[in-house]
Amino acid sequence: MNYCSHCGSDQLEFKVPAGDNRPRYVCGSCQRIHYSNPKIVAGCLPVWEDKVLLAKRSIEPRKGYWNVPSGYMENGETVEEGALREVREEAKARVEITGIHSIYSIPHINQVYMHFLGQLEGPDAFGVGEESLEVRLFTEAEIPWEDIAFTSSVFSLQRYFADRKRGHHELHLGQLDYPVRATETDD
Ligand code: ZN
Repeated sequence: MNYCSHCGSDQLEFKVPAGDNRPRYVCGSCQRIHYSNPKIVAGCLPVWEDKVLLAKRSIEPRKGYWNVPSGYMENGETVEEGALREVREEAKARVEITGIHSIYSIPHINQVYMHFLGQLEGPDAFGVGEESLEVRLFTEAEIPWEDIAFTSSVFSLQRYFADRKRGHHELHLGQLDYPVRATETDD
């Protein structure tokens, strides 16, 4: 951080504010403390019969790899709205959210993934969104495990199919510990 986003001053100091316990950027001009906190990535795994819908990414990072449709939440939306927006943008999918599926933390890059399960409205209720090269339904046997974009998606898919075999869906908590694949990025 080079300039204060509140007053534009370059008088920023990285220090522990009074009463705090970790360093923050503090503006020496307007005294504003700039907090930096994790971002939430909201997503939804659309389901149709024994298949799930994945989108092949058309943008970096992990361009050309398959992913559970997900992306950063926007200000002013709930996490469910964010998940539905992402599934609409990336997979043009019409789904009804049926439950929360996984919460997956990646502490060293300050991200938390929240994946929902969604019932696809029909076998054709999807298309190829702008950020995707291809969108299609996969049975468990068809999942291209070597070509899944992010560990959060691998986690969600593995847990989904395991739950399905048991006939019981629950909330799964997971995390990725350092070291991580170099391709997993913060932005
Ligand atoms: Zn300032």
